[in-house]
Amino acid sequence: MRPFSAIVLIYALVIPSLSFGADPAVPTPTALVGYSPRASRAEREWEAKFRAIPDPANLREYMRRLSARPHHVGSPYDKDNAEWILAHFKEWGLDAHIERFDVLFPTPKIRVLEMIAPTKFTAKLEEPAVAVDPTSDQKSEQLPTYNAYSIDGDVTAPLVFVNYGLPEDYEKLDRLGISVKGAIVIAKYLESWRGIKPKVAAEHGAIGCLIYSEPHDDGYTVDNVFPKGPMRPPDGVQRGSVMDFPSSSPGDPLTPGVGATPDAKRLALKDAKSITKIPVLPISYGDAQPLLAALAGPMAPKEWRGSLPIPYHVGPGPAQVHLKLAFNWDIKPVYDVIAKIPGSVAPDEWIIRGNHHDGWVNGAEDPISAQVSLLEEARAMSLLLKEGWKPRRTIIYCAWDGEEPMLLGSTEWVETHADELREHAAVYINSDGNDRGVLNMGGSHSLEQFVNGVARDIEDPETKMTVWQRAQMKKIASAKSADDRKELRQRPDLRIEALGSGTDFTAFLDHLGVATVDLGYGGEDDAGIYHSIYDDFYWYTHFSDTDFVYGRALAQTVGTSVIRLADAEVLPFDFVNFADTVGMYVKNLQKLLADKQDEIRERNQELEEGLFKATFDPRHPTVAPAEEEVPPHLDFAPIENALDSLTRSAKDYQQALSQMQSSLGDDATAPKLGTVNKDLIETERRLTNADGLPRRPWYKHLLYAPGVYTGYGVKTVPGVREGIELKKYAEADQEIVRVSKALENESALIESAARELNGTK
Ligand SMILES: [Zn+2]
Repeated sequence: MRPFSAIVLIYALVIPSLSFGADPAVPTPTALVGYSPRASRAEREWEAKFRAIPDPANLREYMRRLSARPHHVGSPYDKDNAEWILAHFKEWGLDAHIERFDVLFPTPKIRVLEMIAPTKFTAKLEEPAVAVDPTSDQKSEQLPTYNAYSIDGDVTAPLVFVNYGLPEDYEKLDRLGISVKGAIVIAKYLESWRGIKPKVAAEHGAIGCLIYSEPHDDGYTVDNVFPKGPMRPPDGVQRGSVMDFPSSSPGDPLTPGVGATPDAKRLALKDAKSITKIPVLPISYGDAQPLLAALAGPMAPKEWRGSLPIPYHVGPGPAQVHLKLAFNWDIKPVYDVIAKIPGSVAPDEWIIRGNHHDGWVNGAEDPISAQVSLLEEARAMSLLLKEGWKPRRTIIYCAWDGEEPMLLGSTEWVETHADELREHAAVYINSDGNDRGVLNMGGSHSLEQFVNGVARDIEDPETKMTVWQRAQMKKIASAKSADDRKELRQRPDLRIEALGSGTDFTAFLDHLGVATVDLGYGGEDDAGIYHSIYDDFYWYTHFSDTDFVYGRALAQTVGTSVIRLADAEVLPFDFVNFADTVGMYVKNLQKLLADKQDEIRERNQELEEGLFKATFDPRHPTVAPAEEEVPPHLDFAPIENALDSLTRSAKDYQQALSQMQSSLGDDATAPKLGTVNKDLIETERRLTNADGLPRRPWYKHLLYAPGVYTGYGVKTVPGVREGIELKKYAEADQEIVRVSKALENESALIESAARELNGTK
């Protein structure tokens, strides 16, 4: 570690000096949003000091330590890591403790997969150690390859290949005249979250499900396989949870909605809603190839075929497969490590920062690559505290356990502390894994402007441009239309992604309505080691951010965000971008409905014309789709009216804030900031509804949710969107009304914050 003060000096020289004079020849750097000019200057100095601290050598050392042995839920090294993280927080002078929860975590007892006809084959279900990779041979500590929360089962049936196992793949199968009723399906990984595959298969009558890693997607078609290259070797398997969280809730399946504390009331296992309906097992392409090769029946549609040297048939059979799975349904401890930095002015307003520490095996990339950045942030903040920095708000650092099985540590913590969090949580910032490349920004759109502002202050380690510019250029390069490129060049802020799920922000955003940001770098290197024994220190230091400069960039990006949120006189929320985004969603929904209507009208006409009969190949007969009713018109007027008032109050608020900016630190203004900030914290809560989404009451946010049939993939305005997609049109109509009311309330709150600021209230 370089001496702290020397680094600060160097950075101090390159900070542009700030000037707020009236001299037109001197460009006037704008003060940070939510800061008076004076506070803004001080803040920029603290931030620059902060960004000089994170050290790649430390990141590398932390990773070596934390990924040295398998550290899944319930393993000795998982607990050891939690204690090691706690010791570091304490060593840095932070007030830290471990919070333990007891959760259902199944591990495999029996795993049998064999083909019994037309030939015999027994699947290996085993990832071999690799000589050059020193941690790949820790066999006794590695979890076997499996999908957590698959139900026990013993089934024998003909096999059917179902592509990625998405709902539309089953429509294709219908057209081919193929049913999966009573069959075991084999699906490719990717395209949807893995748990969707057994769920949709079960809905279509399948009795078992295999998921394999197709070399076309993350194997030899992409690059050399490990250890020669970064991609998945023939026997590599993607472990992972298949808990049906999108339809129920994430977290411990036995304590939905409440914390899994020792005295919590627990469901009986048979009543747990989020366990799969049919047994499911992940396999390698080494194990999948003989099974797929033994399929007959029609050729799979062209776009379904992968890179294995076989003709891809759909089946069913003649391959007959026997799948037998049994699990130890144990209760295991998870250890969340929580560190607090108390706020000096507004201790009751909390900025929360989290990343998980548990992995499926050694988990160097997922999650340690970003956990190490979190640790460097905490260390850097402790140094600032020693230098006299006093954050205005309370900062809470969280190293979550049990994320991999399905967000166990974060969900149980949020459910346990729900009342306090509803009252105090201003923003949650998440990361989960980090690689080389471009900054990916996701989150609540009231923070879009804020996140863009931070990205403009971070240097990309490889190109030396700002990470914002680099993200903009990447987006322009991959934009699909001239309109998109124009927007990317002209809109002041890049659009941030809406958040679905798949990591620890879910309970904060979807259950409580805490404004959320999710950040991470990536996109430069291909990887085929996800959730395998090869995701380890050797792989990461050979094929990803090998010099940890993007790990440093992540610490700088997230740490700057945390500090800037914690110190702002007025929380830097902005609603102009938010209203713009909601407007875009409303247009999307109208287009979705219109496209559906056109598509069904056209297909019905084709049926009447006899088009399907005329174009079928009589030697390869297919089945015509059924005639369908054209979707009715929906009344979008309430949501359009709500959007109008939202747009108005967003502008009013922005104007009020910019008018007040120079006097934010004044004695006259300071006393009312508490009320304004309270309103701002409340804005994300206003987007929730206590009854939750249709059929899944745990999900309370009306604008963002994981899709029931996409899993991690987001559905924006989910009640309305899924109403249309699932052909529940009356429900979609009611949801429009609920969303409109929430937006009207939101707009009233923003207006009230504006009036509070400019003194007209
Ligand atoms: Zn992760």
